[in-house]
Amino acid sequence: MQSVSDRWYIRYSRISLALAVALAITVIIGQIFPDVIIEGQRQALSFLALGLAIVQILYITIIFNRAAKSGNIWQSSFILYLLQTITAISLIHTSGEFGSAYMTLWVIIALISGMFGVYAIVGMCFVITLYFILATTGADGIPTFDTPSLVGLVGTYILGFLSYLIFKKYYDLKTNSQITKLSGALKNKQLQSEILVQSITDGVVVTDNEGSITVMNSSASKLTGWQTDESQGINVHNVVTFKNEQDEIIPNTNNPFDLVITSKKPISNTYKLEARDKTIRSVSCVVSPIVADKSNDIVGTVAVMRDVSTEKAEEQRRADFISTASHEMRTPVAAIEGYLALALNDKVSKVDDKARSYLEKAHSSTQHLGKLFQDLLTSAKAEDGRLVSRPSVMDMGLYLEQVADSLRFSAEKKGLFVEYTIGTSSGAANKVLTPLYYAYADPDRVREVITNIFDNAVKYTDSGKISIGLTGNDDVVQFFVKDTGPGISKEDIPHLFQKFYRVDNTNTRTVGGTGLGLFICKKIIEIYNGRIWVESEVGKGSTFYINLPRISSQKARDLQNNNASSSTINHS
Ligand code: ADP
Repeated sequence: MQSVSDRWYIRYSRISLALAVALAITVIIGQIFPDVIIEGQRQALSFLALGLAIVQILYITIIFNRAAKSGNIWQSSFILYLLQTITAISLIHTSGEFGSAYMTLWVIIALISGMFGVYAIVGMCFVITLYFILATTGADGIPTFDTPSLVGLVGTYILGFLSYLIFKKYYDLKTNSQITKLSGALKNKQLQSEILVQSITDGVVVTDNEGSITVMNSSASKLTGWQTDESQGINVHNVVTFKNEQDEIIPNTNNPFDLVITSKKPISNTYKLEARDKTIRSVSCVVSPIVADKSNDIVGTVAVMRDVSTEKAEEQRRADFISTASHEMRTPVAAIEGYLALALNDKVSKVDDKARSYLEKAHSSTQHLGKLFQDLLTSAKAEDGRLVSRPSVMDMGLYLEQVADSLRFSAEKKGLFVEYTIGTSSGAANKVLTPLYYAYADPDRVREVITNIFDNAVKYTDSGKISIGLTGNDDVVQFFVKDTGPGISKEDIPHLFQKFYRVDNTNTRTVGGTGLGLFICKKIIEIYNGRIWVESEVGKGSTFYINLPRISSQKARDLQNNNASSSTINHS
């Protein structure tokens, strides 16, 4: 259906209103002063004409404007056009048919028909043809082809065609009006989503793929201390400042907004958020990638943050209690374990076999209890940042080799083969060529992590091998522990590093554990701005990866020199 731009219809409705008013006035004058009206036209200006004029006036003033506003301007204009056609026909019919002076009105009707497209022109031609047949057909059933009627008929066809030519070039304008409507609808949608985002009680921050903020709602504004408007276009790192438990700003390599772009996966974690006025809140934050519909490219990120400071404070109180309780209980348990060890020692005491078996069980349970208290204490400390850390420069290649050697024994006792790889190839022969992977962390803490992961691998693997490996690039040192154990299901993987989480299956039920080991590992690795994760499939073994920021050889030397000079100062 062709149509022209909306402003044509609006102009048309105004002219029509003027014409209808003029017609109504003429009819009224004609009724009051019949002599003023030319002979032959008087009859046409009947109450029917007045009625049609009034209908048009009412239609334009009451219905047309409303319909036009709701986007139905073409339809409402076309109805007006039909009303005018009826009025014109009625005037013509009552004043001499094709010879009527009102044929001039018909000329206008024919000329504007093109405004409504080809169908309207054809319709208009059809109406005049029908009228021609009805008006000129005599009793013999054959239409009379007199000059006025032929001129009226053919003239209408020609005018209709002319109208098409006039308006044809404006039909394209409809595209513009469609664009206007579409952009209006889009603006509406944008407005709706803006209202929606603003009403979310959680803080929402949207960035493009370069990290510039495109949307920030008022809750995020309260959390960050940045006004919604002023944050627009600013890099998210300047507005959303995440800190770790040690109150250090999380580096870009570990910032969830950056990680999401590289990993293309949502990242959820609890961070300390430093507002503009330096106040710190704990926020639970999920950052997800925004993926383009077709290309699957990441076009930005969206972060949803919730203030969990109250929950954190509550958690802190609980952690304090656990920490104090486990600290207090660890001492008597250590004493019990010591006495049980003495009771089992042949050199110190004599027990019969039955008593020995009972004592061995009690000893192993006490050891488990001691480990539980130790883990509870460590996890409580890890949670509130009280875990002692004395970082130093670590040559990870050398370090891992030593750790692997000391761990090897427990695995081999179980019949498991242990393999250590550094760089891309295994074996000591390549050591000379392998790059130096330096990291800055506390060796005791890193040992705790590797031991835990390695012990798990031994614990949950019945046969096969355990590989410890080290790789990396310019930015990270990566080490991994890979086993040929039962693997971990997709559903369990996201929960694995949570406190007390243990996979519930026959494999794990028979193996003792506290469910705190991996939680502690994660907390320790986070102290050094590292990352720990697992890749696993049921039946195909598991690989635990740890990334630590890599430091250059130069930086390693500088740090070592600094440490050496500070310890000299301390000694003097
Ligand atoms: P636990 O003391 O129970 O070993 P962790 O936090 O160390 O606690 O591990 C949590 C859970 O993760 C374990 O209970 C186990 O189900 C699963 N898990 C850890 N390491 C492995 C592994 N190498 N293979 C299979 N499952 C593992």
